[in-house]
Amino acid sequence: MPRWYFLIVSRKFVWSAACLLFCIGLLVLWQSLPLGFYTLGLLNNEVVYDIMLDAGHGGIDPGAIGEGELYEKHYVLDIVLRMHEILTGHGYKVGLTRDHDRDVSHLVEKGTRHRRDLLGRFKLMNQARVGLSVHANSTKDSREAGALVFYLKDKYIAKIYAQMVFDELEKVQVMNVNYVVPRDTLLLLKANPPVLLVEIGFMSNPADLAKITDEQFRANVAQSLAAGILNFVWWRGGEQTES
Ligand SMILES: [Zn+2]
Repeated sequence: MPRWYFLIVSRKFVWSAACLLFCIGLLVLWQSLPLGFYTLGLLNNEVVYDIMLDAGHGGIDPGAIGEGELYEKHYVLDIVLRMHEILTGHGYKVGLTRDHDRDVSHLVEKGTRHRRDLLGRFKLMNQARVGLSVHANSTKDSREAGALVFYLKDKYIAKIYAQMVFDELEKVQVMNVNYVVPRDTLLLLKANPPVLLVEIGFMSNPADLAKITDEQFRANVAQSLAAGILNFVWWRGGEQTES
């Protein structure tokens, strides 16, 4: 076998190794960006709202379904519309991801409807200084009850915000656990501003369902969530003025 043959083999080997390393590098980079390249582009939105409110689900997505064909999407929208009225009454510019029975998938072009819906809400959240998403829970164990407040794990300011909302919410609804809950898997919480996801109770629990379908309860929840947001906005405003 001629000697130059080994040269070709080794050159091919070097190229293969270089390509492999490049691919591994790309993979590592991709993993280090938890939002992905496309989603990252949605972070660059101009801030045009003081507060962004998100009513979960909508349109073909009913969310949790309570006994008697009761849909989460209707009740959370009702609460969000009440919050909108309270907060605009305080002079804030308040945005809504939806103001009627539809999803938010129309704002994004790529992906499945579910993915586009999620990214549409994420995109709008990035246009505000603070955000809150309202949901109602469901689980197989009908004894599970009470509200939950989720914030982005390791985001210090979001935890403060979560505690302020928790303190108001517990005045009108029992809490599922006695603390604010860190999450690192919910995309909406990874938006630029501090964003919370609040589960107001369990549609799968008869007592919670009776509350959620009660107009006065929803008015109280809206009032408490709005109060929590206002406390945070005022606190943060004070912090910024002092610094
Ligand atoms: Zn939901």
